Amino acid sequence: MHQNRALAANCCIVKQKMKIVDIRATTVTVPLHAPLRHANGCHWGRFVRTIVEVEADNGLIGLGEMGGGGESAEAVFRAMKGYLVGHDPARTEEMRFLIANPTASLYNNRTQVLAALEFACLDLLGQAWNVPVCDILGGRLRDRVPFAAYCFFRYPHPRTGEGEVRTIEQLIVEARELKLRYGFSSHKLKGGVFPPEYELEAYRALAHSLPGDRFRFDPNGAFSTEQAIRFGQAIEGLRNDYLEDPVYGLNGMRRTREMVRVPLATNTVVVNFEQLSANVLNTAVDVILLDTTFWGGIRACIRAAGVCETFQLGVAVHSSGELGVQLATMLHLGAVLPNLTYAADAHYHHLTDDIIEGGLMSYTDGCIDVPSGPGLGVKLDRNKVAQYSELYKRLGGYPYDQDPGRPGWTPLVPNDRWADPRDGRCGEIPY
Ligand SMILES: [Mg+2]
Repeated sequence: MHQNRALAANCCIVKQKMKIVDIRATTVTVPLHAPLRHANGCHWGRFVRTIVEVEADNGLIGLGEMGGGGESAEAVFRAMKGYLVGHDPARTEEMRFLIANPTASLYNNRTQVLAALEFACLDLLGQAWNVPVCDILGGRLRDRVPFAAYCFFRYPHPRTGEGEVRTIEQLIVEARELKLRYGFSSHKLKGGVFPPEYELEAYRALAHSLPGDRFRFDPNGAFSTEQAIRFGQAIEGLRNDYLEDPVYGLNGMRRTREMVRVPLATNTVVVNFEQLSANVLNTAVDVILLDTTFWGGIRACIRAAGVCETFQLGVAVHSSGELGVQLATMLHLGAVLPNLTYAADAHYHHLTDDIIEGGLMSYTDGCIDVPSGPGLGVKLDRNKVAQYSELYKRLGGYPYDQDPGRPGWTPLVPNDRWADPRDGRCGEIPY
């Protein structure tokens, strides 16, 4: 009897085994409320994302998503078919070595490609096993993930002329509006655009305009170490979550950390296990911002969070710009991290639409529910994918590291070629 039951269970497992039969990729571009300015350029009023579909021999389709700095990544996913057709999507660890072996990958840098394929394989497994992805990854510790407002300096929308955030007054109005609409209690200001003195004034004003809330500032490593120290010391009295990448490089961060009594965070200089181990051995950063794309998948982020838990470093969830598929990966990650003590970042509230069924996921009290359906718990809305794929074909990509308002501009690291906050021009943005 027992033997029969065991045999039956085995049959079930054999039945559920899958093979990848196809990989498809579609580039879409989805509009933002307004172009977002950052230290290296601008998101030109839209995100360009490559949506990946991995089909298994039982007809299930797993979803992945990748960014790429305003460019399409379709071609690389087509090339992955040669590696992965016939592969069992449950063998995710073998897939890591198959397409992103750490020494072979020096030639093709496929970490982000691996991430999108891992999302899709986990989505397949969750659907086949009828469980949400977070249940494969240790099980949920929370049903919803808190997010921070992501405040950017913005150019006006190229069509409507609305949405500009350049003056400090505009920034405060925007932050209050975001809090009112979504319920955020933590707020991030993306800096590195205007001179540090101006951004310090803006950050202070932001912190004073929303008393009781928490704040984080991120100039994308654009400051010199000395500027980072001056800025960090000047904000010590505010309710800071952390100061994110004020300077580029572990040594600059370490020198800043010695002089500033605000936790330092990074999503740029600790983005792999070599860098994480260097930071453990000689600490330069307090909070590691885990990005499901930059680290090569949700599972790599969980491993990194485990190292951080062991060495008592903080973790948070980083956003590299996302539509609903990638947001789902961030939600499943956020659900399973025991040491998630900060609100996650997301660009998501800047989007005007999404390509998943049901449209944009909604915020409640600054939080988004972890999807409860099988796999990632999101499905493509085929009409939306077609609509935004057409828009991509019409508009093409955009240079994420160029500023449409400053032709010929090349930012340095550390930078001193700041934009002028009195300059209201925004250049030509095709739309
Ligand atoms: Mg950052």
